[in-house]
Parts: sequence; structure tokens; C-alpha cells
Amino acid sequence: SEQYFSDVVKKAIRTVPNWPEEGVMFRDITTALQDRTVFRKLIDAFIHRYHHLSIDAVAGVDARGFIIGSVLAYELNASFVPIRKKGKLPFDTVSESYELEYGRAEVEIHKDAFQQGDKVILVDDLIATGGTLLAASSLIERLGADIIEAAAIIDLPDLGGSKKLRDKGLAVYSVCEYA
Ligand code: AMP
Repeated sequence: SEQYFSDVVKKAIRTVPNWPEEGVMFRDITTALQDRTVFRKLIDAFIHRYHHLSIDAVAGVDARGFIIGSVLAYELNASFVPIRKKGKLPFDTVSESYELEYGRAEVEIHKDAFQQGDKVILVDDLIATGGTLLAASSLIERLGADIIEAAAIIDLPDLGGSKKLRDKGLAVYSVCEYA
């Protein structure tokens, strides 16, 4: 069942308390990626969810969104588009800045990343405040593509990010939650 699968994935994720700073419970997906059975089942879950939708592109967020996103794009026979931290992409970009707990961050995308009306899945490893995926979704929409869903392995619903994204009209999917 879906609940069983979610529990299997949660068991495979390592929690590192107080990293990178005091008070943060860091959800480390590397242990889930190292487990070949869990890694495959995780990708399979995303494929199963999207394979019938004629997805044109998967956009992955720097850096852990690349790991899931590129494999998903390959399996969906879709293109892969990286959404990167500021200053990494060599060609013309559009960028979006957003609030962090301390200061601001900026994400960028190549301006020719999509065709008008492309059907896009947006992927990252985790939704916390939702700031990253919200900024990423603005970039995709500014380029005239359509976001079919924003997908993550983990949602932290208490931080309000997934609700914020849904309130903006985005469909949101996560494999598991930590409350
Ligand atoms: P946010 O923009 O607040 O939704 O934060 C999401 C981004 O920060 C994702 O790219 C995550 O990789 C990272 N992140 C935030 N909180 C955590 C956490 N507790 N454990 C692991 N990664 C996190």
C-alpha cells in the first residue's frame, strides 16, 4: 500500500539532528539512494504517477533535485532542465530571488529551457517553507511552460510550504511526511 511504501522510504532516510545548524533535523536522502531497492522503488513511484501524462520536461532543483529528476526524465522520455543556484548557468537566464531564514537566495534557469506549453514536472528532494519550489515554479511559468505537479520525496507540512504551493494553485505530491 501507499502507507507501507511511505514507511519503507522513511526508514531508509537518515535524520541528522542539529545539522547544518542547531535545531534543524536534517533529512538525509543519501541513505535511501544507497539502498538499491528503495532507490528503484522511489523512482518507480514517480514514473507510475506521471508516465501516462505525456510529460515534456522534468525540471530538477539544484542539487538533490537533479538526482531524482534526471532519472525520472530519462524514464519518462522527457527532457531534463536544471534549475540552478545563481551564477552557475552559462547562457542567458531568468532568475528569481526568495527569502531564506537568514538573507535571500536566487535560482536561475536558461531562458530557452522550454517550448511554449511544455508539460513540466518540477522536482526537489524536500519541501520545507516552499520558498525554493515557489521560486522555481515562477521561473517555469515565466518561460510559458505548464507545471503539471511539483513533486518531492519529503514534505515537512508543519513548515507550511506544501500548503503555500497549493494555495498558489500548484498540484503538490510527496512520497512521505515528517510532522
Ligand atoms: P524550502 O525552500 O524552505 O522549502 O527548503 C527546501 C530546500 O532546502 C530543499 O532544496 C531542501 O533540500 C533543503 N532543506 C530544507 N530543510 C531541510 C531539512 N530539514 N532537511 C534536508 N534538507 C532541507
